Amino acid sequence: MALIPGILAKARTASLPRILIVGGGAGGLQLATRLGSTLGRRGQAHIVLVDRLPTHFWKPLLHEAASGHRDPASHTIEYAAQAKRYGFEFVQGELKSVDRARRVATIGAVLDNDGTQIVPQREVPYHDLVLAVGSVTNFFNVPGAARHALPLEHVGHAEDFRKRFLAACAKINHLADAPGAPLVRPVCINVIGAGATGVELAAALRHAVGQLAAYRFRALDPDRDVQIRLIEGTARVLPVLDPRISARTRAQLERLHIEVLTDTRVASVEEDAIVTSTGAVLPADMTIWAAGVAGPAMLRTIEGLALSASNQVIVTDTLQTPDDPHVFAFGDCAACPAGGSSRYLPPRAQVAHQQAVYLSQAFARRIAGKPVAGFVFRDSGTVVSLGESGALYQADLRVRDRSVIVDGLAASGLYRLLYRKHLLGVHGTRHTLLQTLGQFLQRYNRPSIKLH
Ligand SMILES: Cc1cc2nc3c(=O)[nH]c(=O)nc-3n(C[C@H](O)[C@H](O)[C@H](O)COP(=O)(O)OP(=O)(O)OC[C@H]3O[C@@H](n4cnc5c(N)ncnc54)[C@H](O)[C@@H]3O)c2cc1C
Repeated sequence: MALIPGILAKARTASLPRILIVGGGAGGLQLATRLGSTLGRRGQAHIVLVDRLPTHFWKPLLHEAASGHRDPASHTIEYAAQAKRYGFEFVQGELKSVDRARRVATIGAVLDNDGTQIVPQREVPYHDLVLAVGSVTNFFNVPGAARHALPLEHVGHAEDFRKRFLAACAKINHLADAPGAPLVRPVCINVIGAGATGVELAAALRHAVGQLAAYRFRALDPDRDVQIRLIEGTARVLPVLDPRISARTRAQLERLHIEVLTDTRVASVEEDAIVTSTGAVLPADMTIWAAGVAGPAMLRTIEGLALSASNQVIVTDTLQTPDDPHVFAFGDCAACPAGGSSRYLPPRAQVAHQQAVYLSQAFARRIAGKPVAGFVFRDSGTVVSLGESGALYQADLRVRDRSVIVDGLAASGLYRLLYRKHLLGVHGTRHTLLQTLGQFLQRYNRPSIKLH
């Protein structure tokens, strides 16, 4: 008898139009939550979220996880719990292929840590498919880069990097601590790409070295023993932002003893060095690649999808693919026209967030048989965090084509608000306030950096 409600529920959902969202990142999780708590709860659609991982971690925090300033365990959201709370279904697995003619997605098998299969490969039918699979690192075919440089795409990468970074600090601390210690070469960490990710990571690492020296590695001299280098191919750091932000950021990075090399193209990456296009050889104990993103290779396997030069799915302003109105794409994996121009919107959390809000409303209107207008991005500015050294915020004013730059406490506050805004979108006000309080108490009671 206990099975009957379950069977009835299954029969009910089977007859509903199924919206299949693949990717539970900055955009996908917001969309699944919004659609689940509206169309899903009202019985108007069956919302299914697929992700290759069981938990969500907001990607813009990855550099803080890599430096040890954020413990991912305190900031992950379990998809299954979110699904139960907000009326959608969660399926774990990696999207492998899509049969657009049959409207069926193939989700790969789930394996345990030993490679033993837990759940086999499955087919999931859909009425509408929403691709929100994010982006991967673009190594631009630089020889050795994919092999020797570390990417920063998910928590696993951040944790790998943090452990290597901690081990390097422990090693040099031990060498410096030995009686009559000989002079040793500093640990050399190279960050390639001085966009927002590279800049934020370099600054966070410099602060982390200082904190590790204060807590644990007492013989370590942060400036002498750990060399952090930021390498940029164009003429300035943060090349897409206002030149005044670039100049201020560079000055601040140099005050933090970060070596900034602009106009420097990386020709190859080796295990222990970077070779530039002018033939200079820069020693490297660790190299992080933060120089660009592209759409995941898997997108190329979906027959008939038009892709941009960066391998992103080309979409119209309604975020649908031009040839198939049942396939949508948004966030980093989509090439969405920027205001009718020939440019595409940048791969940013802000874009993914606004598109998720737009799509949730657009699906509701479609189901109600109402017309749907195109997506319009409203740029609310860019914040770049320099960790304890503050943050810089740039907003482009529509009036007279001017940019406003804000720094100090206001910019740092704005930076912190971004994450809270994401939490508000996935948790609602009460839960976000409780979580913020919990995280604040945790930070108050723990060291400012992860020490193991
Ligand atoms: C270190 C760092 C700092 C950043 N800082 C900022 C910032 O300050 N401001 C800003 O606006 N942006 C920032 N960004 C960019 C921002 O994180 C992305 O633009 C945003 O996360 C894109 O959201 P998304 O939903 O498209 O993809 P993601 O958030 O990347 O989510 C993609 C999801 O898809 C899943 N997935 C991938 N492939 C598959 C598959 N085949 N099958 C199933 N699931 C799959 C992944 O597990 C993931 O959950 C930063 C990025 C990084 C790396």
